Amino acid sequence: MVNEPLSGSLRIADQAAGAEASGRAEPEYQFVIIGAGVCGMYQLYRLLEMGVKVTVLELNGDVGGTWFRNRYPGCRFDSESFTYGYSFSPELLKEWNWSERFAARPETLRYLNHVADKFNLREHIQFNTKVVGATWDEDHLQWRVRTEDGREITTRFLMTAMGMLSVPTSPRLPGLETFQGRALHTFDWPEDLNVSGKRVAVIGTGSTGVQVISTIADQVEQLTVFQLDPNWCAPLHNGPIGAEEMAQIKDSYDEIFRRCFESPNGFIHRPDRRHTTDVTREERLARWEELYNSPGFGIWLGNFRDTLMDEAANAELTEFIAGKIRERVKDPVVAEKLIPKDHGFGTKRVPLETRYYEAYNRSNVELVDLNETPIREVTPTGIRIGDGENTRDIDVDIIVFGTGFDAVTGAFDRIDFVGENGVRLRDKWAAGPDTAFGVQTTAFPNLLMLVGPQSGSVGANFPRAIEDIVNWMTPFVSYLLEHDIVRVAVTPEAEQAWLDHVAEVNDKVLMSKAKSWFTGFNRNIARDDKPRMLVYTGGAVRYRRLVAEEAANGYPSFTMTPAPQRVP
Ligand code: NAP
Repeated sequence: MVNEPLSGSLRIADQAAGAEASGRAEPEYQFVIIGAGVCGMYQLYRLLEMGVKVTVLELNGDVGGTWFRNRYPGCRFDSESFTYGYSFSPELLKEWNWSERFAARPETLRYLNHVADKFNLREHIQFNTKVVGATWDEDHLQWRVRTEDGREITTRFLMTAMGMLSVPTSPRLPGLETFQGRALHTFDWPEDLNVSGKRVAVIGTGSTGVQVISTIADQVEQLTVFQLDPNWCAPLHNGPIGAEEMAQIKDSYDEIFRRCFESPNGFIHRPDRRHTTDVTREERLARWEELYNSPGFGIWLGNFRDTLMDEAANAELTEFIAGKIRERVKDPVVAEKLIPKDHGFGTKRVPLETRYYEAYNRSNVELVDLNETPIREVTPTGIRIGDGENTRDIDVDIIVFGTGFDAVTGAFDRIDFVGENGVRLRDKWAAGPDTAFGVQTTAFPNLLMLVGPQSGSVGANFPRAIEDIVNWMTPFVSYLLEHDIVRVAVTPEAEQAWLDHVAEVNDKVLMSKAKSWFTGFNRNIARDDKPRMLVYTGGAVRYRRLVAEEAANGYPSFTMTPAPQRVP
């Protein structure tokens, strides 16, 4: 086992020569990355910089991951654009101009294409390549990766960057196959679909549904929203970024990234050091008013620190937000239906919105509360709701499922990962994932997870968190190469210690008690409702410190096996 401090420079060519001399069957690649989204692209850039033999296998026809797939109307991020771009290249920062405070999907996709072109990433990516399985070959110390088109690709190390929300889920509604219109999940929005003048049903009111509803309400003839449990939403306050402001942003990038670096979720919004009780009720109401009227996640992530941890503080803020919904929705009955009763503000991911609540003041928009009148079936012409005498048919041309994803572990489950002694990852994680630092799981040597459960990236401003993990992973793999390590596996003790730590920090936040994708809740998947530990809520600052300590101590959580002695 080699776990000593890194020294000297990489000797990639030496490594290959050594392997040849010792008669080891070398894999085709040193590294395979699954996924060419925001994370896979950056890790590829770093590995290319190191001069290793790497390829990326990407399911889609181009780069961008979530931004390639999510074409639905209104798709944009809730992160300030200038905090969403990569920070690694001063040249890239200097040349790219964001046009809006919260850029829409086409602009973000243009940005990622620009990055791929600028750093010649595409030639190292195999597009339209679906990975269906990967088996650990202990004899040859390599992964055998199988693709849908029947190929087998061998690699020493396999990295996953498959996204947290890349496996869509929809309800299995009776009669759906008889529907004569178009039915689609937001993740599969067809390029040719135009909703103007159509009668549209949207099922689901998470961040995605909220964006679709707000955007199409004034384009369609009739919009019927089918809502189970409402979410707490807050205004986005988007706006253009002019040339002068963009120049100022460019001058302030160091400060912007420093702020993100110091915040628990990688956003520019940082929790207030004060507790709600440190100020008078008038003062906190004034502060909440200010935050509600400011752009972005301030009302959620820049609030008094106890609002997401203490039930009484959370209840007061929740009542403030409920008041806003009552002010904005004219019909009080509809307003009450839009106010969540099962969870407090911010204990689930808060969708940011632009005139979402006002959409319900329009005469062509109807809210159907599925808790009162469930969907009975889909008919050839629409959706039938209610029971017995209360049955009602709602005719629609298009049914949109904004019904979420098999979050975080879904992308792993659909690939048949087989580790040591035939252990299947989907079996190992059947009751919930277990990892150390979110980067490795026992029984799966040389499988390195960049976007994995219990890592820093889930629930954070994604590019900031993925830069953290790639900036940690890159020296880690340098270390492996430097020491000619052919097998790396996390220890069971380290895995247990991480699970205990994740449980401990998660227990302190109200979010870990709410039923949402953060806790693995999904009513379209047949599994129990027991919360799953998908997210690390200890914050980016702590996560970075813990993984940095791991590196500084020579990676004690990992067992490393060097290649057999070289023939002199
Ligand atoms: P989601 O938050 O999981 O919401 C799914 C919605 O569908 C919920 O309202 C859910 O209701 C409903 N639903 C699920 N199954 C249903 C069923 N069988 N019948 C009726 N309704 C059903 O999914 P999402 O909206 O796609 O968002 C997922 C995540 O993607 C977000 O939390 C966010 O992290 C990310 N995202 C970000 C942005 C952005 O940055 N602006 C935009 C979109 C998405 P229940 O809650 O009652 O189950």
